[in-house]
Amino acid sequence: MKRLSVKLLMSVAVLAITLFFVQCSKSDGAVVANTAGDETFVSGIEKSMTVETETDGIVDCIYVCLNGMPVEDLSEAEIAALSFVREEELLAHDIYVSMYAKYHVPVFNNISNSEEIHTTAIKVLLEKYSLTDIAADHVLGVFVNQDVQQLYDALLALGLTSLNDAITVGAIIEDYDIADLIYHTSEDIDNVDILYTIGQLHRGSRNHMRAFYAHLNFHGLTYTPQYITQEMYDAIVTTGWEIGSGFCVCQYEFTDNTDNKIVE
Ligand code: ZN
Ligand code: ZN
Repeated sequence: MKRLSVKLLMSVAVLAITLFFVQCSKSDGAVVANTAGDETFVSGIEKSMTVETETDGIVDCIYVCLNGMPVEDLSEAEIAALSFVREEELLAHDIYVSMYAKYHVPVFNNISNSEEIHTTAIKVLLEKYSLTDIAADHVLGVFVNQDVQQLYDALLALGLTSLNDAITVGAIIEDYDIADLIYHTSEDIDNVDILYTIGQLHRGSRNHMRAFYAHLNFHGLTYTPQYITQEMYDAIVTTGWEIGSGFCVCQYEFTDNTDNKIVE
């Protein structure tokens, strides 16, 4: 992303290396039966992913959490970031929904659920600050921001080509999201609730990248980052799953993907 300063990216990469320390086993994973009855790969990371089965409860929890933080003056950058990230997270959600519908590989379903939480958190902030929700009438695959629409159309077409391409599309989306979220934190953004939310989305995106990296490896694929630096990409995928308490400590239920029969 041209807007991003390399210096900033490098400093964040160093921070990432410092903070995220657990080494990940690249071969960690299992072959499982997916919903179509075919065998597919589920990474160790996915097996420890949070599952948001009670979305309503999580939304209420996020609403209380973010509204409990102070209301502060909004900068133009904060207003622009909220609107952009609202649709950016929906892009990821919608692509993964389509990839899961075509390939029935659980990673797309798991991560689309996470993206739904991400975009909902931004929606809560838009409501908190009485801002227009750009995606109030969102229809799957249709975006107000035409840059987002073009990216969506291109990624959808690529992802529908083959499962290998779909996994690469997952890496591209997380690559893009990480770069964009870092860019926003370099702007005039200092409200506690917005910084917290962007930080949580950033952590989620790093974990999503790790999940897709495991799938890339399983399929013998290599991904070259297009938006973040190679150094940052390496720092993310060679460190382990960042276990948090979930967004606002709202996602507390962990699972071993019991929807899937582990056949390791
Ligand atoms: Zn996200
Ligand atoms: Zn993501």
